[in-house]
Amino acid sequence: MTHDTHTQDTAAPRGLISDIQRFSIHDGPGIRTTVFFKGCNLRCFWCHNPETLALRPELQLYLDRCIGCGACFQACPHGAHVLEDGVHRFLCERCQGCGACAETCFAQALVLVGEWKTVDEVLTEVLRDRAFYETSGGGVTLSGGEPLLQPEFAVALLTACREEGLHTAIETAAQLPWERIAAVLPVTDLVMMDVKLLDPERHQAATGADNARILANARRLGAAGVPLIVRTPIVPGVNDTAEDVTAIAAFAAELPSLLYYELLPFHPMAASKYDSLGMDYRARDLKTPPKERMEALAAAARTAGITVQHR
Ligand code: SF4
Ligand code: SF4
Repeated sequence: MTHDTHTQDTAAPRGLISDIQRFSIHDGPGIRTTVFFKGCNLRCFWCHNPETLALRPELQLYLDRCIGCGACFQACPHGAHVLEDGVHRFLCERCQGCGACAETCFAQALVLVGEWKTVDEVLTEVLRDRAFYETSGGGVTLSGGEPLLQPEFAVALLTACREEGLHTAIETAAQLPWERIAAVLPVTDLVMMDVKLLDPERHQAATGADNARILANARRLGAAGVPLIVRTPIVPGVNDTAEDVTAIAAFAAELPSLLYYELLPFHPMAASKYDSLGMDYRARDLKTPPKERMEALAAAARTAGITVQHR
C-alpha cells in the first residue's frame, strides 16, 4: 500500500522518525531504545547519520543493489527516476517522498527514510523491551538529528514514557532557544549534549553554526541541576588536540550537574549513506583516531578534575 508520509494527520501529534533502534548500549545507562528524530540544524561535516539531517522524508538509492528492473521508473508520479546512458539516475529535486517507488523495488535498492509516527506507535515499539530496561537500568533515549526541532512531539513522547515509568534521556546539540530545552526537562532524567569546540569561529566552520547558544544552554542546564553528560566527537583535524579537549573539559568542569565528560572517536562508516542520498561526504578520507590517541586525550581532559570516559 502506498502511504503519503509527506503530510501530517492533525488529529494526533506525529513526529518524523528515521529509525527506532532497540538494544542500544551507548545512548545512556543500561539497555535502551533509541528513537531517532529526523531534522538537524547543525551540519557537522563528519555526521554519521546524514539521513537524519533534513526534516522531511527522503529516498535513499543504493545503486549497488539496483538490478535495473525499471519498476521505480513506472511507479514514480513525478518522474524522479530516469535512465541516462543506461544508468539509473535519481533526480532528488523532483522527489516528494511518497515512497511509491520503494514499495515496488524488490531489490531493496530504494529506502524511504522518515515516517510520521504517533506517540502511541513509538511507545508501542519502546515498550517491547520494558523487561530489559528494568533489569539493566535502561530506558528510552531521544536522538537524531535534533529531537528538539520537533518539540511538541518530543515532550509528548517523553511524557508518555515517563507515565510508563521509563527512564528518559535526550541527546541534543542544544543549538536552540532555551525554552525548547526547558520544555522537556520536567520529563527528562538525563541530557547528553555535544560540545565540539570552544572556539566560535572554528565551531562555525566545522558545524555551520556558532556555539554561543550551545555553551549558554550548557551553563543553564548545569545551573538547573539537570543530570548532564557532555560529549565530544574526536574528529581528526577538527578537535583532536590536547589543547582543544582540555579547554572543553575545563568548561565542562564548571557545570555543577555534570556526571562525566565523554570522548567519542570519529568513525568513517557513513560513506554508503551519503552516496545513497547523493550527498557529498567531506569526511570520507578521515581515519578513526587510534586507541592510544583517545587515551592520551582522555588523560589530558582529566587534568580538569572531572570524570572522563572514552571509547
Ligand atoms: S525498482 Fe529497484 S531494482 Fe528496479 S530499477 Fe528501481 S531501484 Fe533498481
Ligand atoms: S518517493 Fe520520490 S522518487 Fe519515489 S515515487 Fe515518491 S516522489 Fe517518486
